[in-house]
Amino acid sequence: MKMLINGNLIDKNDKIAVLNPFNNEIVDHVPSGNGEDVKNAIYSANKAKKSIRDMSSRKLSRILYDIHQELKEKSSEISRLICLETGKPIRDSKVEMERSLQTLLMAAEESKRIYGETIPMDAAIAGKKVFGFTIKIPLGVVAAITPFNYPVNLAIHKIAPALAAKNSVVLKPSTQAPLAALKMVEIMDGHLPDGIINTITGSGNVLGDKIVTSEMVDKISFTGSVNTGLSIARKAGMKKLTLELGGNDPLIVLDDADLDAAVTAAVSGSYLNAGQVCIAVKRIILQEKIADQFAEELVSQTKKIKVGDPLDPETEMGPLINEKAAIHVERVVNDAVNNGAELLWGGSRKGAFYEATVIDHVQNEMELVQKETFGPVSPIIRVKDLDEAIKLANSTPYGLQAGIFTQNIEKAKKAVRQIEAGSVLINKQPTFRTDNMPFGGFKMSGIGKEGVKYAVEDMTRSKLVVIG
Ligand code: NAP
Repeated sequence: MKMLINGNLIDKNDKIAVLNPFNNEIVDHVPSGNGEDVKNAIYSANKAKKSIRDMSSRKLSRILYDIHQELKEKSSEISRLICLETGKPIRDSKVEMERSLQTLLMAAEESKRIYGETIPMDAAIAGKKVFGFTIKIPLGVVAAITPFNYPVNLAIHKIAPALAAKNSVVLKPSTQAPLAALKMVEIMDGHLPDGIINTITGSGNVLGDKIVTSEMVDKISFTGSVNTGLSIARKAGMKKLTLELGGNDPLIVLDDADLDAAVTAAVSGSYLNAGQVCIAVKRIILQEKIADQFAEELVSQTKKIKVGDPLDPETEMGPLINEKAAIHVERVVNDAVNNGAELLWGGSRKGAFYEATVIDHVQNEMELVQKETFGPVSPIIRVKDLDEAIKLANSTPYGLQAGIFTQNIEKAKKAVRQIEAGSVLINKQPTFRTDNMPFGGFKMSGIGKEGVKYAVEDMTRSKLVVIG
C-alpha cells in the first residue's frame, strides 16, 4: 500500500515489509517515508484546513455518513487486513471493524452538536448590558499517531472526531500494522477535498520527532506506550496533547463475589487479543478465602481457549504481534517463576505464540505486575482484605481502568473512591469500553480523554465573542 499526501498515493523505492505474525509471510509493503514526506503531508493538511473549516456542519456530517456507508460495504476486506497484519483472530478483527463503524457514526452525529456557551456577563459589574458567548472553532491540523493492537478503531477514534470538529489530519500508523488503516484512509479521502486527510508510513523513531516538533501541527493525539508518550510530551511544545498510554489494570475479586462471573471476566480480560490490550486484565488480586477455588476455575477455563490460525473463525487466540514480543512475555513469566511464583498452567512459547498462562503467588514487586507485560498472562496476587487490594491496585505507575467483583455495595463504593484509575468497573472486567464513554487514564496512563464527544471537544478551542 502507499502513503496518501494531498490526495495523491505516494510510493518510495525504499519499502518496509508488513509481516503476518502467524506465518511470517509478507502481507504487503509500505513506503519508508522520510522527513520530506512528513513535511509534505503536514503542509498539505495545513493548506487544506480552510476547505474543511468553511464547510457547513450539515455537509460534513453527510460526508461522514457516506464514508460510513462505503467502509461498511468494504468491512470484510478491512477486517481481513487487520487479521493478517496483527494476528488478531478474524472474529475479533470483525468486532474491531464493527466498533470502528460505530465510532464513525457517533462522529457523524456529534459533528452537528458542537455548541458554545452563553456567558452571563452582567454577573460582573463591568458586564452590564454586555452580551457574551463562546463559539467552538477547529484547531487546524491534528497529527494522529497510533499503535498496532487496534489499528483501525484507534485510528478512527482520532480521525473521526478531528474531522467532525473540522480539522485536517495527518495519520502515522504503526509500522507493524499499517495496512488496514491506510486502506480506510484511502476510502475516506475519496469523499473529502484533497489534503484534508494524509498518511505517512515509516519508522516512528525516524519520523516521530519531525511530526511532534512541527510548527504547523496544532494537536498531537497519540496512543501507544508510556515511553513514546513521554518522549512526545517532552518535545511537543505548546501543542494540545492527548496521550492514551499503557495500563496495568487490576481485577479485584473479594470473597463475597459471584465467582463464576468473575472467572469468566478474568478469562476474557486476560486473553483478548492475546493480552495485547491497554485495558487487559494484567493483575488478578484475590481475597485469600476464595483464591484456591478461583485459581482452579481459572485454569480450567484457560485450558479451553482455542489457539490457532487467526483466519479460522473458530480461533479465539492467535500469536503476539511478533516473536520479539513473545520472547519478552516468556522472560517476564520465567523471572517470576524463578523468584517463587507458581506456574499453574501454560508458560511455553513457540515462535510468536505464547500460551495462555496462569501464574499464582505472584509478588507485588515482580516485573510481571509492576510493568505492562502485554501478553496472555493471568498473574494472581493473594491479599487478606479490600484495603490491601486497593493498596496493591494503586501501587504501580499506571492508572487506566480497574475492575472489582463484590456483592457488597459499600466495598464497591470504597474501591471507586480510592482506586487511582480513569474508570472503576463494578462486577465487570476492566477490559471493557464502549466507544462513546470518556476513556483515558490517570498517572502514567496518559493525559486527556477519548470517546467521540470528549475527543471532539478536545479537537476544538473556544473563542469568546463579546457584544457591547
Ligand atoms: P509504541 O511503540 O509506543 O508505538 C505507537 C506509535 O508511536 C507507532 O506508530 C510508532 O511508530 C510511533 N512512534 C515510535 N516512536 C516514536 C517517537 N519517538 N515519536 C513519535 N511516535 C513514535 O506502542 P505499540 O507497541 O505500537 O503499542 C502498544 C502500547 O500502546 C501499549 O503500551 C498499550 O498499552 C498502548 N495502548 C494504549 C491504549 C489506550 O487507549 N490507552 C490503547 C491501545 C494501546 P512505529 O510503529 O513506526 O515504531
